[in-house]
Amino acid sequence: MKKFTLVLAILLGAFQVSVAQSFNKADAFSKFIDTKDLSKHLGVLASDEYEGRETGKEGQRKASDYLQNAFEEMGLVAPSEHGFKQYFKLKQKVLANRKLSINQREMIIGEEFFVAKDRTSYNVLSNEIVFVGYGINESNYNSYANIDVSNKVVVVLDGEPKIDNQFFINADGTKSKWSDRKYKIEAIRKLNPSLIIYIDQNFEKYKSYYKHQLEGNSLTLAFKTKNAENTPVVNAGQIVAEELFKSNKKVFNKIFEKLSTSKSPGKPMVLKSTLKLDVQFIEEDVKSDNVLAMVPGTDLTDEYLFITAHYDHIGVIDGKVYNGADDDGSGTVALLEIAQAFMEAKKASNGPRRNIVFMAVSGEEKGLLGSEYYVNYPIIPLSKTIADLNIDMIGRFDEAHEKDTNFVYVIGADKLSSELHSINEKAAAHVGIKVDYTFNDPKDPNRFYYRSDHYNFAKNNIPIAFYFNGVHADYHKEGDEVQKITFPMLAKRAQLVFYTAWELANREKRIVVDKQNDFTDTK
Ligand SMILES: [Zn+2]
Repeated sequence: MKKFTLVLAILLGAFQVSVAQSFNKADAFSKFIDTKDLSKHLGVLASDEYEGRETGKEGQRKASDYLQNAFEEMGLVAPSEHGFKQYFKLKQKVLANRKLSINQREMIIGEEFFVAKDRTSYNVLSNEIVFVGYGINESNYNSYANIDVSNKVVVVLDGEPKIDNQFFINADGTKSKWSDRKYKIEAIRKLNPSLIIYIDQNFEKYKSYYKHQLEGNSLTLAFKTKNAENTPVVNAGQIVAEELFKSNKKVFNKIFEKLSTSKSPGKPMVLKSTLKLDVQFIEEDVKSDNVLAMVPGTDLTDEYLFITAHYDHIGVIDGKVYNGADDDGSGTVALLEIAQAFMEAKKASNGPRRNIVFMAVSGEEKGLLGSEYYVNYPIIPLSKTIADLNIDMIGRFDEAHEKDTNFVYVIGADKLSSELHSINEKAAAHVGIKVDYTFNDPKDPNRFYYRSDHYNFAKNNIPIAFYFNGVHADYHKEGDEVQKITFPMLAKRAQLVFYTAWELANREKRIVVDKQNDFTDTK
């Protein structure tokens, strides 16, 4: 035991000395990360001229060109023969036809009913409509007694009944699987209906969310786009339900009330209504790109360190430009400055031993699309990628740090490699910045570990560290402007990333993955 401790102490001591020496060498170059350049770049990228850099739009393309030019001017090279940009195709679904009529009455999409965007067309004309209550199929409760619903429209209620406020489908009184919307829909699909109308008692509550989903310009990666071929589902509220019962509010409410508090599922009811559904989405092609630039390594050139930040933001909403100076203009300009510091080191014959690839990613705000594309079509083999240091918002501070802004949240650094965590700690001590690990706690409800581009690297077992200043009042608001950036802190945090990168790129052995990831994705 004693011997082990001694050896360990010697090893740790040696590690500390070598890292410190390495940082002393880096000191001459970290000063190239300065507030003047950071504010110069950010003043351009977060100006109205760049129109909030929305993925697929003109402002994003302008930003992409600006970044490529800046990298090229500093002397970085393209990491592949394809040049500095990795283009990727996206699809955007736009609502074209939007009709649902029941007994001649037109229902309003987004207000009275809603459909998912996982298919491009919904086309059903039927007068065979069956109400199956809760649509449960168990030995103690069968909603489908003596009825064949194939090729018919099935109208079903969300949830399950209770007696005296107590569930009973499960013998132990717990909530059953039939309360799970996904489960219930899959079970009904097995009966081959032509359409499922899912009556959701919470429809009103989620209406604005549904509306946003339908009308928002959401994007999907083209290589992942596929149209669902299973039974379509219409999500609907009370108004659609009543109309299906021929505008007979009383009848529906009476039946609903009875079913929700009865042990009997009743008999399936054939509704004498006619339904016509015609909803179409048009698919538009959208193109975007990631910008990649490399500082070539000197001798360990088979290995690559990635430093990433997303340069896209959320664009123009209701005529107002959302400039995203902090999100993630701050990370984007930090990339440029860290790249400059490494290029200066290279000029002074202190270039990194491993290659360093700077990747400015787009599509982040639309669901981490650029980084997802990248890990599916990597330019550098993922097995040769030793780590990803991802920067997303480092120019401001959150409420918790109003009194002392000398901090940065670091998330995920210890999830796959204890060495990465330890190197980052030493870099933070060298720079003199406090690392806050609040959001690194797996129990933290914000789950930031899963919410920026690094996660696509982590999923592929590449160690990551995520640098972040926390959420503030201007997060995803038009007030996220350059004037509110604290440039000295932006520079200091970028320097922390620089020192961590310095050690990762120059150490003898690449850092080891010594921990199992937890892949509890939230999406
Ligand atoms: Zn962001």
